[in-house]
Amino acid sequence: MKKLEDYSEDIYKCTKCGFCQAACPVFQETGLETAVSRGKFTLLHGILSGKVDFSEKIAKYLDMCLGCKACYDFCPSGISAEEIITAARAENNKINGINFLKKFIIWCFKSNIRLKALKTALTVYKKTGLIHLTGKIAGILGRWGNLIKIFNLQLNQNIEYTKLSAVKEKKEMKVVYFPGCIGNYVNISAKNAVIMVLEKNGVEVYIPDNFSCCGISSRSAGDFDTFKKLAEKNISLIPDDIDYLLTDCASCGSAWEFYPDLFEGELKNKAFRLYEKAVNINKFLETIDVYIPENVELKQVVTYHDPCHLARFQHVSEEPRSLLRKIPGLVYREMHGADKCCGAAGTFCVVKPGISQAISASKAKNILDTDADLVSTSCSACKIGISQGLAGMNAEKQILSPVELLAKLYILEENIDFAKNELKRN
Ligand code: SF4
Ligand code: SF4
Repeated sequence: MKKLEDYSEDIYKCTKCGFCQAACPVFQETGLETAVSRGKFTLLHGILSGKVDFSEKIAKYLDMCLGCKACYDFCPSGISAEEIITAARAENNKINGINFLKKFIIWCFKSNIRLKALKTALTVYKKTGLIHLTGKIAGILGRWGNLIKIFNLQLNQNIEYTKLSAVKEKKEMKVVYFPGCIGNYVNISAKNAVIMVLEKNGVEVYIPDNFSCCGISSRSAGDFDTFKKLAEKNISLIPDDIDYLLTDCASCGSAWEFYPDLFEGELKNKAFRLYEKAVNINKFLETIDVYIPENVELKQVVTYHDPCHLARFQHVSEEPRSLLRKIPGLVYREMHGADKCCGAAGTFCVVKPGISQAISASKAKNILDTDADLVSTSCSACKIGISQGLAGMNAEKQILSPVELLAKLYILEENIDFAKNELKRN
């Protein structure tokens, strides 16, 4: 991984034009110069020239970045603040350590034993009916109640796995699917949908046991050691001769882009080969001319939120919309600022809850303005940001990935007990 000093030329390239202010969601909410990339580059310039030292105060300013890359599109000098701020966080960690909350989240997600324990605890929480109890009292608990609502919403399993009959011949391709830790351990709805949609289209998918978290939250916290360990484990579990490495969660998909930079030698080569095979599920479905049933429909209005890690990091924004538009009965309505960050941004929502909620509220307002029945997005973290915004406005909407919606259509077509697969509100 590049160090902060490797970015000194980029930092010096900042002309202080201020165009980044127009794009930065954190600046829009706080109005603070230190929140936007220009201000951070001034601080980092001071650090690189030895006039300023890393301190807890500087660390707090560095925390004020979602890593959304929105400023990059506006920057005439082509500077990627996201990369530079991540590198600066890593340098700061060496001096001031990692923020306790970030450390705790990384600790939870870096071990599969803890993730499996979390899965068991969540299963108990759902099966014993505790989820319904907390859902009922959430309304009287104010802000804490909202947190419960957001948490419970992430556990709704919209799609239960059902073996569907294939409509296409089995394709001769080796496909690995990387569901990510949320897909594997917290809510397997999106994972079920991906497997079902692929099976229906004749694509057999292999998911190695013991995949770890992609590590993207450790990367954004500047904990490159953890990121590297998780990357190495994930890379080692994938055979070299695959044709495609599929991801559906935007954050997990972009992690594969960063893996090659972590290694040297053969491991770097393998990471790079896998990165070249990595493709987002929405894009993959276009390449195989995905089957769309014509005899059933989903009569709902949908709007789509672009995850930053999908639209800006992987340049996938048209494909999910195109899939939604193909679903019979579904009316697509574009929201204002669809590509603006949802406010969750990994650990940002925990470290900067006030700013995170304000950004999520602006996203929720744009969603509500469309009058859509449901929201679609392709990222498990964005589902948190969107539900946070909606909960703050006392609104509730289904949040499903385009592939989950397609799986619903397939289930309808096969006339499977649809009620079983309908959204279970808590
Ligand atoms: S848009 Fe780019 S060059 Fe202009 S102030 Fe922002 S970071 Fe600097
Ligand atoms: S990456 Fe996003 S949050 Fe960070 S400075 Fe750029 S626009 Fe602002």
